[in-house]
Amino acid sequence: DERIARISSAIRIIPNFPKPGILFQDITTLLLDPKAFKDTIDLFVERYKGKDISVVAGIEARGFIFGPPIALAIGAKFVPMRKPKKLPGEVISEEYSLEYGTDKIEMHVGAVQAGERALVIDDLIATGGTLCAAIRLLERVGVQVVECACVIELADLKGRERLGDKPLFVLISSD
Ligand code: IMP
Repeated sequence: DERIARISSAIRIIPNFPKPGILFQDITTLLLDPKAFKDTIDLFVERYKGKDISVVAGIEARGFIFGPPIALAIGAKFVPMRKPKKLPGEVISEEYSLEYGTDKIEMHVGAVQAGERALVIDDLIATGGTLCAAIRLLERVGVQVVECACVIELADLKGRERLGDKPLFVLISSD
């Protein structure tokens, strides 16, 4: 697909961000290219339209960029999965481990109902810890997570394996 090549070349790699030795995949340059950005959204919409998905759950922060246009196009609601202490209402939260320490994601109580079918979206999967926490959070309230989707997968980190049998769809797999 020529669209994948366009998307791939619109993503910028910044060495040593946020710390030495990390090659950061920067999707802000993809957003500067309206054609590549539209191709990105279109590829996800083509995959998820007509699949009876009622919830697109986007992970802070870059899941908030890709999730809403997909949700609108497939007729689903958008639910933000946020970093701790950002949501004003009552929340449920799920902890996950980082290289050093732990982090948490939170969702508003009542945003989703048991039995709904969800897609979880983020810009990138590295170790898979963040997506796993999002899946656990949604499943705790009885939501069925149909699939996770990311623009980029860092394949070497084997996040896909951490997701177990939960399907993962990515546009670009990088090593
Ligand atoms: P994981 O939990 O190890 O899979 O890390 C994934 C999370 O870290 C996602 O929310 C990403 O947005 C973020 N992340 C990790 N590495 C990068 C990167 O190179 N570019 C953009 N986001 C990254």
